[in-house]
Amino acid sequence: MSLGTTDTTQPPSEISQGKSGQNRASLIHMRIKRALDVLVPEAVHWDDTGAGADARISPISVRPLPKVPNASPKDLSKASERARRAQKTWAATHPLARARILLRFHDAVLRNRDYLLDIIQAESGKARVHAFEEISDVVLTARYYARVSARALAPKARRGAIPLATRVEVNRNPKGVVGIISPWNYPLTLAVSDAIPALMAGNAVVLKPDSLTPLSAFAIKDVLVQAGLDPELFQIVPGPGRELGPALIETSDYVMFTGSSATGATIAQQCAARLIDFSAELGGKNPMIVLPDADIDAAARGATIACFSNAGQLCVSIERIYVHRHIYDQFVARFLAHTRDMRVEASLDWDTDMGVLVSPEHLDKVHAHVRDALGKGARALAGGTPLPDIAPNAYAPTILENVTPDMDVYAQETFGPVVALYPVDSEAQAIGLANSTQYGLNASVWSTPARGRELARHLRAGTVNVNEGYAATWASMDAPMGGMGISGVGRRHGIEGLLKYTEAQTIATQSSLVPLSTPPGMGAQQWAQFMADFFTVARHIPFMK
Ligand code: NAD
Repeated sequence: MSLGTTDTTQPPSEISQGKSGQNRASLIHMRIKRALDVLVPEAVHWDDTGAGADARISPISVRPLPKVPNASPKDLSKASERARRAQKTWAATHPLARARILLRFHDAVLRNRDYLLDIIQAESGKARVHAFEEISDVVLTARYYARVSARALAPKARRGAIPLATRVEVNRNPKGVVGIISPWNYPLTLAVSDAIPALMAGNAVVLKPDSLTPLSAFAIKDVLVQAGLDPELFQIVPGPGRELGPALIETSDYVMFTGSSATGATIAQQCAARLIDFSAELGGKNPMIVLPDADIDAAARGATIACFSNAGQLCVSIERIYVHRHIYDQFVARFLAHTRDMRVEASLDWDTDMGVLVSPEHLDKVHAHVRDALGKGARALAGGTPLPDIAPNAYAPTILENVTPDMDVYAQETFGPVVALYPVDSEAQAIGLANSTQYGLNASVWSTPARGRELARHLRAGTVNVNEGYAATWASMDAPMGGMGISGVGRRHGIEGLLKYTEAQTIATQSSLVPLSTPPGMGAQQWAQFMADFFTVARHIPFMK
């Protein structure tokens, strides 16, 4: 259904209530069931055998999803022990052998993509095109780490204390067991894409997926096992984060967390108490800046994608747009035109532009931000309401104007299809406003490439996309990705995203001919003088670092 023709006053969902809607929902349900039967028959319970399992309704079919029993902290500790045993053998395999598994996994993901897409959509409600972003991300990550890891992990020679007399090598040893906690918004790729470099570095992984989306995690594990990975190396423990988080941190040697900044802070404290390292990819309130020399139509189309992909439930999606006053009206007119053309649906078809939100609870949170803004004087140029005639969790792509600092939507993450527009008078004002929140995850600049890059350097954001919304940095696997401020600690992607899962070990071998302490027969003062002379000379030799 195109938004231009949507009447939000109609009674609830054709999909859940109308007769043809019921047929359609049955078809969707059957497709989801078939995908689960093919990929994860052992992980699902359609009856009540899933003791301790949460009942979940698919946002796409609006029918119950199969139950996935929750693990207890004791189950988690046992899973971690099994992972630790398997890791001993895995750590001894050559990185090239691990890479071969990853490349087979890459091919198997593409082969199974239709089933995987059905499962992602069944749990998250997202449009198929956005589910495909997850497939792309997984295969890009698998190919990248398959190709670069052996070299990055190989022992490296480093300069020694005394040239020729001190021989130094640095080894990259796996941490051991890596605990991963993932959210629901990209349930397939965030379950496996951080596990890929951890496994490549010789670790085992224990994953706690979000309780809304555990099936996507089981499905992608199944494909990894098909590709040849020992299933013991990748343990999945579904259940509530508050209960399982402490047990996971207790039994892991490193923790990778993706989720909200508030939970990230709790996890950081628990890791600190055990003195283990962690990285955290957290929330954002990401700004876009449009300058007068931008291609205005391209910027407007880019904004539609950057704000409404995955219905805005995307850590790097744009929630604030600062547009130079000279082009404000033109930009707004085009942005509205592109937004009104969007098809919003709960559907497994490819021609949906935006899917539905993950849950009624999340829809309530998004709508509360919008209601708060409208109640305090903001104006909705588009949307501003749920779309119950499309599906229970459907929400209209929403463009707000006149947003002020007293409104929740001004500086807090909404994590939905909601964006605020602000006219600005100068580049400096745009930079100041863009940098004015506590977050610092992603930003986007539309201008000429050179000016865009120059402006980007002044932004407090871990990734900045010039003439793109978020995908250019995200898909550039060789470059680090992560947040400044309360948006994160550490980075994923790139060699950084691999080496963080290792312990650097330095081995230095000293020649007996050139000792590093007072040699026999020399007094301490003489030795100190000799060394002081050496330091004085070394300071003037450029290759001495
Ligand atoms: P959340 O923090 O509530 O939950 C994320 C995960 O943490 C879930 O698996 C949950 O079960 C677990 N969890 C919750 N409380 C926990 C606790 N006390 N101890 C251990 N684990 C706990 O986040 P959410 O609201 O479900 O996810 C959306 C958030 O994730 C948004 O803020 C979004 O920006 C962020 N996100 C960031 C990135 C990134 O790469 N920076 C990617 C995706 C999502």
